[in-house]
Amino acid sequence: MNLVIAKPENITPAERDPRWTALVNRDPAFDGKFVYSVKTTGVYCRPTCPSRLAKPENIAFHADCAEAESAGFRPCLRCRPNEASLAERHAAIVAEACRLIEASEELPALDALAQSVGMSPYHFHRLFKSVTGLTPKAYGAAHRARRVRDQLAEGKSSVTEAIYDAGFNSSSRFYETSNKVLGMTPSAFRAGGIEAEIKFAVGQCSLGAILVATSRKGVCAILLGDDPDQLVRDLQDRFPKAKLIGGDAEFEKLVAKVVGFVEAPAIGLDLPLDVRGTAFQERVWQALRNIPAGETVSYSDIAARIGAPKAVRAVAQACAANKIAVAIPCHRVVRNDGGLSGYRWGVERKRALLGRERG
Ligand SMILES: [Zn+2]
Repeated sequence: MNLVIAKPENITPAERDPRWTALVNRDPAFDGKFVYSVKTTGVYCRPTCPSRLAKPENIAFHADCAEAESAGFRPCLRCRPNEASLAERHAAIVAEACRLIEASEELPALDALAQSVGMSPYHFHRLFKSVTGLTPKAYGAAHRARRVRDQLAEGKSSVTEAIYDAGFNSSSRFYETSNKVLGMTPSAFRAGGIEAEIKFAVGQCSLGAILVATSRKGVCAILLGDDPDQLVRDLQDRFPKAKLIGGDAEFEKLVAKVVGFVEAPAIGLDLPLDVRGTAFQERVWQALRNIPAGETVSYSDIAARIGAPKAVRAVAQACAANKIAVAIPCHRVVRNDGGLSGYRWGVERKRALLGRERG
């Protein structure tokens, strides 16, 4: 058997660089994070360039295109590192489709939407779903539901008028879907959820006091804090018209389940969530739920994933408006430089949660 021992002096600086692994794997997660140049060809590439990988002794890493160009390298014509990445182009297509859906009285047909962004219906549907977490149809429904919700909340129109104004062409069709999108029927919503009963209980977990609340649809709040009374007041503020009912012994089991989940988020929570937000917030929250435990992303990553790359501030606001701690893991969003940034339930709790998930 021949053993080849790699002597330290045989390992090139490129191979010693942590970015080398990303390069060898052509890891798309690093697209846009750095570029690399090849001495022998004079070009620089994205980490995902499909060209054959050059010898490591000819490779150097650069933070961005400007750095590579000032070192005298030209952009590769194959991976076009100086142009928008595939992910960015995809995000722009989805954002365009979202605008078309939002501007239409009735949901445009899939074929028409796909055509207007220059894709086949099949690929467009898949792309839209992968970026937003929703089908174009569900996105349209959520958007129209939000319009109904806004109008009802403003008290400007009757339930029927609000439904027609929002582009549902028959109220029966709206009522069929309203329970899904509003979490309750429109008249109950108009009354500020007065008929909605919310059960809750406060317990203790390693992060301090925890309040768990459920509607008939599922878990509608998980709040964390130091003071149990403050948590109950917070719940009342978030659901001002709901009738709050203290949980019974049966409910304690559910709370125990949620506490177990908060202690070890990687195990997942197999309870339905009752998520109530604007169409935009719901897109952000859905994107948050796609971040696996142990990983973090930036606010701009989330903005790009939901097809609204410029809406970084609105993404941060949607994270702050989250009512369901840990199950909608807004703690996995950090600043672009990796800094923790704020957390509704205290930055120390965020640090503890992330530390725990990193294992
Ligand atoms: Zn290239």
